Amino acid sequence: MSKLKTLINDLVIANRILANEDVVDAYGHVSVRHPDDPSRFFLARSLAPEFITPADIMEFTLDGVPVKKGGPSPYLERFIHGGIFEARPDVVAVVHAHAEDTLPFGLVETPMRPVIHSGSFIGAKVPVWDIADKFGDTNLLVANVEQGQDLAKTLGPNNVALMRGHGFACAARSLIEVVRMSVYLPRNARALSGAKQLGGAVKYLSQGEIDARNRGYSPYSVETWRAWHYWATKAGVGNMVTRPDTKVAVSKKPAKKSKTAKGKKK
Ligand SMILES: [Zn+2]
Repeated sequence: MSKLKTLINDLVIANRILANEDVVDAYGHVSVRHPDDPSRFFLARSLAPEFITPADIMEFTLDGVPVKKGGPSPYLERFIHGGIFEARPDVVAVVHAHAEDTLPFGLVETPMRPVIHSGSFIGAKVPVWDIADKFGDTNLLVANVEQGQDLAKTLGPNNVALMRGHGFACAARSLIEVVRMSVYLPRNARALSGAKQLGGAVKYLSQGEIDARNRGYSPYSVETWRAWHYWATKAGVGNMVTRPDTKVAVSKKPAKKSKTAKGKKK
């Protein structure tokens, strides 16, 4: 399989995982930068992530213009992705989602900070972007290049920015990493909200603990990859999973769409 085809497959897997883990629903999206042309990125057409296949992936320039004219409708909020890719040459993959557990932290002074080990990758600082600060009364959606650039400015060198009354954007060096961060960000938010409700002082992860977690991280380590493989299989796309070192599909038959597991969650 070509490098590009593998990447598109990984982007489809990322979409399906985020849908199955309830990070995105009908809305929310994930993108990846073009490996050979940093001024372009891939993102699905306007479709719920759960339904996305390789045929739905479109290519964009950083100003959110589709490379192929006359194609299907793109996501309105593609400017989030272009803005971050433009501002952050180190970023390879971006997620935007509306996960409910993260929303309270965009509304109050209480900052979102890592409190659980798997939440360490969100980083010590999670800024909040308020679209109203610069753009006044809007429909809160990131609908043009200027708004995408302003969000990227608030994100700065951090991994995650919360978006007031809307959701979050997160950026990482790989699809695996951005998916992992997006799955654990709402879980970290839940743990932090729960701790706040119990009352008393909250013990956050220390900078030393965050650094220790980062030192031990590798996107294709057995441990990291285990989660990607598990989530993909649970989402019914285990047959699409490849390891970059082998390029061999690891799971020959697609896992059954687990109705019981899904039903249990709801
Ligand atoms: Zn949105």
